[in-house]
Amino acid sequence: MTFPLLFSPLDVGVFVLPNRIVMGSMHTGLEEARDGFSRLAVFYAERAKGGAGLIVTGGVAPNRRGWLTPFSAKLTSESEMEKHRRITRAVREEGGRILLQILHAGRYGYHPFAVSPSALKSPISPFRPAALSASGIRHTIRDFADCAALAREAGYDGVEIMGSEGYLINQFTAPFTNRRTDEWGGSVENRARFPVEIIRAVRERVGDDFLIMYRLSMLDLVPEGSAWEEVVYQARAVREAGVNVINSGIGWHEARVPTIASMVPRGAYSWVTARMKAETSLPLVAANRINTPEKAEEILAAGEADLISMARPLLADPDLPFKARTGRSRLINTCIACNQACLDHIFEHKVASCLVNPAACREKEFEARPAAHPRKILVAGSGPAGMAAALTAARRGHQVTLCERGDTLGGQFRLAMQVPGKEEYAETIRYFDHALREAGVDIRTGVSADKTLLASTPWDAVVVATGVTPRRPDIPGLDHPMVMRYDELLAGTRQAGRSVAVIGAGGIGVDVATYLTAGPGDRQTYLATWGVDPHLTSPGGLREPAPPHPERQVWLLYRSRGKFGARLGKTTGWIHRLHLRRHQVETVGRVHYVRIDDQGLHAEVEGKPRLFPAESIVVCAGQESNAGLAAVAQSLGLECHVIGGAKRAGELDAQRAFEEGTRLGLQL
Ligand code: NAP
Ligand code: SF4
Repeated sequence: MTFPLLFSPLDVGVFVLPNRIVMGSMHTGLEEARDGFSRLAVFYAERAKGGAGLIVTGGVAPNRRGWLTPFSAKLTSESEMEKHRRITRAVREEGGRILLQILHAGRYGYHPFAVSPSALKSPISPFRPAALSASGIRHTIRDFADCAALAREAGYDGVEIMGSEGYLINQFTAPFTNRRTDEWGGSVENRARFPVEIIRAVRERVGDDFLIMYRLSMLDLVPEGSAWEEVVYQARAVREAGVNVINSGIGWHEARVPTIASMVPRGAYSWVTARMKAETSLPLVAANRINTPEKAEEILAAGEADLISMARPLLADPDLPFKARTGRSRLINTCIACNQACLDHIFEHKVASCLVNPAACREKEFEARPAAHPRKILVAGSGPAGMAAALTAARRGHQVTLCERGDTLGGQFRLAMQVPGKEEYAETIRYFDHALREAGVDIRTGVSADKTLLASTPWDAVVVATGVTPRRPDIPGLDHPMVMRYDELLAGTRQAGRSVAVIGAGGIGVDVATYLTAGPGDRQTYLATWGVDPHLTSPGGLREPAPPHPERQVWLLYRSRGKFGARLGKTTGWIHRLHLRRHQVETVGRVHYVRIDDQGLHAEVEGKPRLFPAESIVVCAGQESNAGLAAVAQSLGLECHVIGGAKRAGELDAQRAFEEGTRLGLQL
């Protein structure tokens, strides 16, 4: 498939973009890391080289009060400006264009200097902000303009002014957080005055030949958010103030509606941008969960937007635009919207990377050099670790054979794609399937690596990536026909009844409970389930979520004392918890499993007997390593490397597996 619209140029008033792909703003954590700007230069240059039409940096504060966290990135001085030159030079050398995003965190600032229009604490920062005085507001406007002038001096092609996701500007525009009674609060004109004055001041400082993009909160998704007519008013006002392009902002960080996680359908919010198309002639950027060129082209063809923002998809694959333009989209390493290595890392104050592309933000460290001496390598097991090792080694010139006991690639990763909301995981397997073949890997499915295979060929090295075996807990009655393992359920070889006890409430237990309770994942159902108003008639775009009608009674059980779901992802755990609560899944801790019989699961909960009268029991009690092949390889005197779940089953996760495989592939 070619993408004629995606690769058509667009005049954005100041210059002509070569295509419609905007790499959206994403904080990487490199902004604050040692040597971070050199790494950022490489990071953005890779994305420019890969063909992104326009890049937007992560948010940079215009003053200290606008910090996200203490000492996070700001641009207020010549010395800070000098560091940015490295980025702009590197991007320009690759023929790209880049905007600096100016972001004032307002009450989302995680520090005691935070400010906001009113002194209302946000639920995501422990610090109550100070209400800005009128002179403080004027100062802040000047700081935005100074920051934009420094951005211009640093060589940026423009700025994006962050007016959405609940940050300071958005705190002014929404009645939810703006309780002022002066000229900066109250009427829509007064609430929009802050962004309008910022844009005017910026335009005055930077001149007409510098792009100003404004990220407009089209849908706040918080109570007392802006009404649609007010959003339209803001769009017109910022246009008059000097904006060239409007980007779509969807949902505040504190909103209780998932807007970018994997259970959000692809392009779930392009209809909002489309509504705005009818209201303004400015070029509009559609955003949120647009992760393939096919979806992007579809949105452009429907006339819903002029540009497409892809942030995480370009973290996952910097060459996405190039591959799409050259008809090789099957080789795109698609972002699966898991948030595990990008957003979760940022919330844990770590540098971001990508689960499916461990090289992201560590480009130099993961640079692949051709192998000095091509070797004959056997990789046993095609889960994430095995696939990554085989691909990396083959790309370096090694002769790689990948054998897989099952009929298809993917190992346990394949099970994840059966879970509603995780369908994207199939894309990773599609990518590896094509990429491994293109790299010349000899893929042998239906083949178990055993002594005969190891002895059959003079292998230079054997990689044991044989994964894990589900743990079989020691519970009397576990052989009862109502009991099944999670892999049997998810693979579809066993079916669950109408009442199910799930033993183990780790990541897989939660996935299984979701599998047992979730309904269809189309856009309409998603909007209804999470309470998004498709008619935009209510302020903030919220309505009462549709009550789910769970078809099953599910108990999710665990032995430990801790709070349920404590180890779930920082940015997705709340979604899982909310989903399970709404679907009346009962989570029960401090369970001691006593026995299983025809009545169900007998247990003691906090010392008291309790029967879970389940028709089915699904065991999700973790895994054990499956590394027997290593001993065989060693007995034959072969060089042997054990990776992924085979090396360590505890806390196995795909992120570690992809990274270990890739690192080994670089070393072999
Ligand atoms: P896990 O997270 O380690 O959970 C295993 C569960 O089994 C725990 O609830 C444990 O808790 C219980 N358990 C352990 N031994 C048991 C025994 N002998 N008898 C009964 N219960 C026992 O492992 P997992 O759920 O299998 O997941 C594997 C890996 O994949 C994890 O690292 C997980 O984070 C990752 N994963 C992540 C996601 C995600 O969405 N991010 C999704 C799926 C999997 P108690 O001891 O309290 O009972
Ligand atoms: Fe996408 Fe997950 Fe990679 Fe983040 S970590 S870019 S969500 S695949």
